Amino acid sequence: MAELKYKSKINKIRSFALGLVFAGMILMYIGLYFKDTAWLMVTFMILGVIGIVFSTVVYFWIGMLSTRAVPVTCPSCQKQTKMLGRVDACMFCKQPLTLDKDLEGKEFDERYNSKKYQKELQSEGD
Ligand SMILES: [Zn+2]
Repeated sequence: MAELKYKSKINKIRSFALGLVFAGMILMYIGLYFKDTAWLMVTFMILGVIGIVFSTVVYFWIGMLSTRAVPVTCPSCQKQTKMLGRVDACMFCKQPLTLDKDLEGKEFDERYNSKKYQKELQSEGD
């Protein structure tokens, strides 16, 4: 069975925020190596703080997105997952999910979330 490369959107954003926290900590750690060069140390410290502050913003954003996400039971692993948009992947088993009956059974395509692509599909139907 081919491995699905799709990741739930919420999980994607969450790993991005976690990456920012680590990047921020690493930058601040690098800054400590330059304690003899004040401006360099301060630059790394500021960049590190920006990374961590930004990750906090991203975490808030995930929280807001989660309230809008639709809770569904994954047909594949039977767990409660949340999905954003018309198509998303299960947070646990990465099973592609859709809210749109028309798209059921179709190949998973992130383009289904784009308004422009939906319009293109509709104009083809006319
Ligand atoms: Zn699942």
